[in-house]
This record gives sequence, structure tokens and C-alpha cells, in this order.
Amino acid sequence: MRVCAGDMMKILVTGGTGFIGSHLCGYLLDNGHEVICMDNLLTGSKDNISHLLSNKNFEFINHDVTEFITIDGPLDYIFHLASPASPVDYLELPIQTLKVGSLGTHNALGLAKAKNARFLLASTSEVYGDPQVHPQSESYWGNVNCIGPRGVYDEAKRFAEALTLAYHRTHGIDTRIARIFNTFGEKMRMNDGRVVPNFMTQALKGEPITVYGDGSQTRSFCYISDMVTGLYNLMLSSEIEPVNLGNPEEMSIIDFANRIKKLAGSDSEIVFKDLPIDDPKTRQPDITKARRVLGWEPRVSLDEGLKKTMEWFRVMTGY
Ligand code: NAD
Ligand code: UDP
Repeated sequence: MRVCAGDMMKILVTGGTGFIGSHLCGYLLDNGHEVICMDNLLTGSKDNISHLLSNKNFEFINHDVTEFITIDGPLDYIFHLASPASPVDYLELPIQTLKVGSLGTHNALGLAKAKNARFLLASTSEVYGDPQVHPQSESYWGNVNCIGPRGVYDEAKRFAEALTLAYHRTHGIDTRIARIFNTFGEKMRMNDGRVVPNFMTQALKGEPITVYGDGSQTRSFCYISDMVTGLYNLMLSSEIEPVNLGNPEEMSIIDFANRIKKLAGSDSEIVFKDLPIDDPKTRQPDITKARRVLGWEPRVSLDEGLKKTMEWFRVMTGY
């Protein structure tokens, strides 16, 4: 592996046509790297990378990472992002979700071993489940219902973390683990079912805004550009143990609904629907470690991020 700062690295991004992956591919190209984007388009879209396809340093490979991965030539870094991420997606795709977290991560780690490449796993705040410790720091072991419907995602990611550290300890692979908290921004799929696309499209169209439960559950939302720099900084760091990446500004979902409604200038009513099974009641990242070891914290305020994202959904919805 080449390690000089400023070198052009050859980088594989699995899940590269998805929301975070497509932004990451663009960022890596802007930073002078050569990028291979690998994706089977399960929840991603080629539209997200269409602006990158003419770049000579960019290549798209349509491949399911649960099958053996072959890449020609050397590889320096692997960002392993492939996995459904929206609760609606992974509840519809439970077996694919378990397979990509287990078999897909195994194949991606095997590739890292074969190429002597540095490997970063995109893990999740869902490893903490419905947390009993608040805010969540990396030392918390979590509270996950392994046989509940959400367990397919949570356990796949927990397994992926265990496998990543096993490859590090057994084979000496240089690994990183990012525990990503709720992230939002342009290129989110309008119908992916997550709270930001739902609330924004509903508010813009004047349709009812669907708050699940009584809306007292909390989340903390990070804008995409901050997440991408956090992932890149983590890859360049020497931190092997998991690092939380997210924005610690926490709010209730009902307050979030009202905030988006106001931002859209919408007169949508707010309606209450059943809370999904095992929906975490609170979520807020403790990013002390990211600040210390990466010198990273979010720079984009929630309002600024929401305004940019709203513009995207205005174009997408035509409202
Ligand atoms: P996304 O659904 O937009 O992107 C995931 C991508 O992975 C898609 O392009 C999909 O087609 C691809 N993929 C799925 N299975 C695959 C397979 N077997 N082979 C190849 N490609 C496959 O989701 P996202 O929000 O961009 O999330 C990216 C990563 O970040 C995921 O690993 C997710 O678990 C993690 N993450 C995201 C968030 C968030 O708030 N967005 C939070 C926590 C963790
Ligand atoms: N949520 C909601 N209405 C929606 C979509 C989501 O109230 O239309 C809630 C959901 O129950 C959860 C929070 O918003 O408490 C965040 O949901 P999301 O699907 O974005 O991701 P999660 O944080 O649960 O992984």
C-alpha cells in the first residue's frame, strides 16, 4: 500500500451509487484519487454517479459484493458501504441485508487482504439498538433485539464489525470502523422511507406529515458533506477501534416535523402513525473520540443542511 500524504490512491467504494457512497466517490475524485465504484444497484441508482462517469479516474462496476470480488491491479483503500440503510429497505430486504453485512463484508475483507489495502467499514448507530445509555459513546455495547425485524440490519452490522476486527487481529489488515449516525442530504431517494425524504416530500406536496408514535423519540441529524469528510479523515487516521460519526444536535421527531413544515412554508397537517417495532427511543452520538482522534466535528448547521436538502427535494418533486 502506498502511504504518502498527497499520493493519488486507488480506492474501491462498495455501495458507491447509494446516497453516501455517491457523495464519497465525488469527494475522493475531487481530492485527486482514482475511484472504482462497485454496486449492484439494489437501493442505489446510476443517476447518482452519472456526473462522474466521464471522469477518467472513475470506473463503475455493477457487481453484487456477496459474490467473490475481483479487481485488477493494486488497491490502496476500500470503503465498504454496500448495504441497505433505510429501515423500510432493510425490512423489505432482510436476507440481502444479512448477506451483504456478512458475506459481502467477508469478500471485501478478503479483497483487502489480497491487495494489502486499508479497509473502512460503514457501520451504524444501530449497533447500539434501542440504547439504555445516552448519549451513545463507543464503549457502550448496545441493546439489540436480535430476532426482531430490525435485527437483520443491526446484527449484520455487529457481525461485520466483529469480522473486521477479526481480520485485523488475525491477518494484520489495517482496518477502520465508522459508526454512522443519521445522515441526510441531496441524492437521498425520495421514496426510501427515511424520515428526511418522507417529511420533506410530504411538506412540499402539502400531504400529511407522518409522525410515527407520538414523535417523542429523538434523533440527531448530520449533513452529508460533514459525514464524507469524517469518513475520509477516519480512513487517513490510525484509529482501529470504532469511531462515532454524526451530529450531536438532538431533537424529537415531532419537533423535526414542525421544523421541516416551517422551512417548506407548508400547511400540511401532522398525522400520527404506528411506531415501527423496536424503533429506538433516543439517539445521540457522543463524538468526543472523533474530535480527539480525527480533529473532526460537523461544520454545517442543521438549518443550513436542511435548506440545501429541501432545494434538492423541490427539484425532485417538482413542487
Ligand atoms: P443507500 O441505500 O443509499 O446505499 C447503499 C448502497 O449499497 C446502494 O447503492 C445499494 O445498491 C448498495 N448495495 C446494497 N447491497 C449491495 C450488494 N450486495 N452489492 C453491491 N452493492 C450493494 O444507503 P446509504 O444511506 O448511502 O448508506 C450507506 C452505508 O452507510 C450503509 O452501509 C449504511 O448501513 C451506512 N449508514 C448510513 C446511515 C445514513 O443515515 N445514511 C446511517 C448509518 C449507517
Ligand atoms: N419516522 C417518522 N415518520 C416517517 C419516517 C420516520 O416519524 O415518515 C421516524 C422513525 O420512526 C424514527 C425516526 O423518524 O423514529 C427516524 O427514522 P428513519 O427511518 O429516518 O431512520 P432510523 O433513525 O430509525 O434508522
